[in-house]
Amino acid sequence: MNQKKLYIDTVGCQMNVNDSERIVTMLQPLGYTQTQRRHEASLILFNTCTVRAGAEECLLQNIANLKNLKRKKPGTLIGVAGCVAQQMGTELLQKYPWVDLVFGTHNLHLVPEMVKDAEQGRRRAETDFLDSSERLDLFPPIEGRKRVSTFVTVMQGCDNFCSYCIVPYVRGREISRRFDEILHEVQGLADQGLREVVLLGQNVNSYGLKGEEQPPFAELVRAVAVVAGIDRVRFVTSHPKDMSDDLIACFTDLPKLCGGLHLPAQAGGNRILKAMNRGYSREHYLETIAKLRQARPGIKITGDMIVGFPGETEAEFEETLSLMEEVRYFDLFSFVYSPRPGTKAAELSDDLAKEVKLARLDRLQKLQAVHSRIHNEAYVGSTQQVLVEGLAKRHGQVSGRCDSGRIVNLAGSPTLIGKLVDVKILEGYANSLLGELL
Ligand code: SF4
Repeated sequence: MNQKKLYIDTVGCQMNVNDSERIVTMLQPLGYTQTQRRHEASLILFNTCTVRAGAEECLLQNIANLKNLKRKKPGTLIGVAGCVAQQMGTELLQKYPWVDLVFGTHNLHLVPEMVKDAEQGRRRAETDFLDSSERLDLFPPIEGRKRVSTFVTVMQGCDNFCSYCIVPYVRGREISRRFDEILHEVQGLADQGLREVVLLGQNVNSYGLKGEEQPPFAELVRAVAVVAGIDRVRFVTSHPKDMSDDLIACFTDLPKLCGGLHLPAQAGGNRILKAMNRGYSREHYLETIAKLRQARPGIKITGDMIVGFPGETEAEFEETLSLMEEVRYFDLFSFVYSPRPGTKAAELSDDLAKEVKLARLDRLQKLQAVHSRIHNEAYVGSTQQVLVEGLAKRHGQVSGRCDSGRIVNLAGSPTLIGKLVDVKILEGYANSLLGELL
């Protein structure tokens, strides 16, 4: 079989990262192996994100730039996957005649036949949404995962319709994957030697909430935590409104459940939270954080924050800063609000000047930098258990994560990869820690 090279450019959330791994697996029988060098690719795929306008514009520019490459190397196939593909569909084929295949978020299973068609010169766009029963049979395995830690998809889609967010429109309705299949996959990963699983979903903790076919998420976490060979369990991303007491209790009951949680608030004031349709108040959010800290003292909370939502006043922005002061996030992903056509918030009048929004983002990020540094410096002198995941960028060092998820680099040989080791923390930097093996 010919060795064909596949180059995938993945942007956006972990769901996309996971989907890209599936695509790599699905194209192996067709003779494709993954390459990190675009110039040697016989198939270039963009796995895309449409959550913010900037990422979409950048993608379209990248696709436009491939016109010349296609002229010079007409045999190179070009494909678009993910949320932009879902949204634009055939428009991408029309606008960019050098694109060969476009497949949406429910059409991953069609990739092998679409690539075969493209190899025969047949261009296709597939963006139909499937119903839940069909989708449940379409979680193809990811093979060849030689890593120490990996994602396991447990649910897909989103029914929350936050007013600013395009995801429910491009990812479709929520479905929870079959409980037994998830456990089977996790056991298989443990048998391959993986030590950590990260349960993945757009709203991972709404697993099992729609219908009675699957148990609640807390039960799934408990079942995964007893799989022999798995030493660590994490999950991402959780919605604050679905953070049940049972799930919070898992942080007390399950030592294998790591002490870091991504719980995006998105804003600090109740009027904005309501306008965002987030389904919780500031008070409820803070109460949840307090319960989590009681369940697992020292738990590290990370989050997302949107600055400059339409109509956000200075006082409301200050509420976001004060929420940050109360929560003291470990890390925070923060963005200026980006209107997405088709969402409710895009219809709101937005007269806040761009400079004001950028200045607010700057203030927020400076505050977060202080908080992150305080967290990191507090590690200095402590002993952390680190799961070594691979080589660090610096020669002679390996890299892993401590319980909270913070990256720890330490001098050591590659034989440490895959091991849980005790590490004394020597330095705390902005985004990582430096330690030494004990
Ligand atoms: S919960 Fe809200 S922000 Fe998250 S994916 Fe769903 S709609 Fe988007």
